[in-house]
Amino acid sequence: EKFKMGLTKTRNSFSTRINELVAKYREVDEDFFEELEEVLISADVGVHAVMDLIEELEAEVKRRNIKDTKEVREVISEKLVELYYGDEDEEEVEGLKEVEDGLTVYLFVGVNGVGKTTSIGKLAHQLKQDGKKVILAAADTFRAGAIEQLDAWGSRVGVDVVKHSAGSDPAAVVYDGIKAAKSRKADVLICDTAGRLQNKVNLMNELSKVKKVITREIPEAPHEVLLTLDATTGQNAMSQAKTFAEATDVTGIVLTKLDGTAKGGIILAIRKELEIPVKLVGLGESVDDLEPFDAHAFVYGLFA
Ligand code: GDP
Repeated sequence: EKFKMGLTKTRNSFSTRINELVAKYREVDEDFFEELEEVLISADVGVHAVMDLIEELEAEVKRRNIKDTKEVREVISEKLVELYYGDEDEEEVEGLKEVEDGLTVYLFVGVNGVGKTTSIGKLAHQLKQDGKKVILAAADTFRAGAIEQLDAWGSRVGVDVVKHSAGSDPAAVVYDGIKAAKSRKADVLICDTAGRLQNKVNLMNELSKVKKVITREIPEAPHEVLLTLDATTGQNAMSQAKTFAEATDVTGIVLTKLDGTAKGGIILAIRKELEIPVKLVGLGESVDDLEPFDAHAFVYGLFA
């Protein structure tokens, strides 16, 4: 339900325009596909993804001998789901990896302002509600106020925050976080990090140092490296994703502010172009507004 609500803007713009298109053309022709292409691109599905999609759609429509544009709408949903999953048969919601026994470590990466801290707070809250003991590590020691902000989330949702002073070594914070998590028998450690995109080499060095510390303590960790992206920034989010994917092994995307944009198609573009699954979506500012991403619900929700 929340997922549907959060997509209101994307859905309204998308389904309204598709419906207009279906009403306008009735019968499938080249102009129909051309306008459809524009609708998809303006929803930020991504130019490459859209071109592939239109091509497949045209082939499928020909194969099934579909003339009625209403029927094409059905095929569009099918193809969008296929677009998201690619060649994989996997059509289940991809949740976060977690270990049964022992400590699960999540590393959050992303630039300032995208909603990283908020997402960490929300996730900590959810995990705690699931009965897990959670600890946060304030390893964004670079941005002014980042430590305090994470600390505030810790108090708000009732989880401990491991922190050092501003400007200190992020890897040392993470190291202490692991020690604290182990000695307090925590289930999950969530590490915040600074996202300084201005300098890719620095970013790469910092993240690899942090990861090295984690892996030295727990060989299979971090269990997820979650890149937070702001859906309202559209193609800018895509370019951030590319940079981070080059700097480190990103295992999943947390896409925030989907409630504030009509361009939810960015989810499909990211999955298609970077082959990184969207694992969580932010659908508002309150603590409960974080949901697992469900591609089926997403695509079919667009037409609901
Ligand atoms: P950070 O700099 O990446 O840590 O970003 P913050 O967590 O401080 O978030 C920046 C702003 O985005 C804050 O005002 C948040 O309330 C807001 N925000 C974060 N996630 C969402 C979301 O899913 N939806 C909406 N509408 N706002 C969000």
